Amino acid sequence: MTDVIAERIVRDPRFERLVPSGTRLEHLADGYVWAEGPVWLPAEGAVLWSDIPNNQVLRWSAADGTVTQFLRPADFANGHTLDHDGRVLACEHGTRRVSRYEPDGSRTTIVDRYKGRRLNSPNDLVVASDGAIWFTDPPYGIVSNREGYLADSELDGCYVFRLDRKTGELAIVSDHMIDPNGLAFSPDEAVLYVADTSAGRVPHGVHHILAFDVIDGRRLGEPRLFRTIEPGAPDGLRVDVEGNVWTSAGDGVHVIAPDGSELGRLLTPEAVANLTFGGPDGRRLFITATSTVWSITVGIRGAVSPWVG
Ligand code: MG
Repeated sequence: MTDVIAERIVRDPRFERLVPSGTRLEHLADGYVWAEGPVWLPAEGAVLWSDIPNNQVLRWSAADGTVTQFLRPADFANGHTLDHDGRVLACEHGTRRVSRYEPDGSRTTIVDRYKGRRLNSPNDLVVASDGAIWFTDPPYGIVSNREGYLADSELDGCYVFRLDRKTGELAIVSDHMIDPNGLAFSPDEAVLYVADTSAGRVPHGVHHILAFDVIDGRRLGEPRLFRTIEPGAPDGLRVDVEGNVWTSAGDGVHVIAPDGSELGRLLTPEAVANLTFGGPDGRRLFITATSTVWSITVGIRGAVSPWVG
């Protein structure tokens, strides 16, 4: 594949500023089975992402456009983010843990159990301003050997967790979801958005994003339906500085205003699993879309601090 002019569906005039007409969809890399979990590394000017079924993590360098294999085997790594020290945190299906990539190439377990029982298969994660790690734990890494290892769940559900880095306490913050997946905070951390992708796995599953009010930075209120995403499902998502939610979907990236209305879509040749803002000014969007990784320069910055992916 090569660069293309991004096809758009404009639902609201505000979308013109976010993704201007004529924006180029830049081809960065391809040849993957299911590209996921992108994170921008500001100190290196590079992006890491997972290719989950191939059990590898790739790295693209902005300096010269080269793609290298960063990790293989990768314990079926999925979502990535940065902690406040700029280190990469990963969700691993194979080890059923959240880990940290160390400079010497080793990996450290951050959390792998809840009350003594193994997690299902952590999928995606985000770090709050207080350093707490919020992550989702659906069963995709244990329901087959495609993206992990077939195994029984040791928990009685699939939860959203919050790991307090100061106390080490791991708490369930939501038991409302079937398959919680991507997640992101609003810019002021007053709202947490969490995707549920269970429609692809169970007969009465859903493909929507829930919005939760965050209470005292450590608990969640009752959820409200933020947006049902179709075609496909909202896997990974990010938020821009004005609070718009940029979510993956079966036909590309959908941009949803904070009130839940759709502003527009950026269409891609294949389904999108995830995306992240990056680049020197935070306006470069990196998109993992099935076999291919794309980049576009958009008209707004990602909400997260440069050190939080
Ligand atoms: Mg995911």
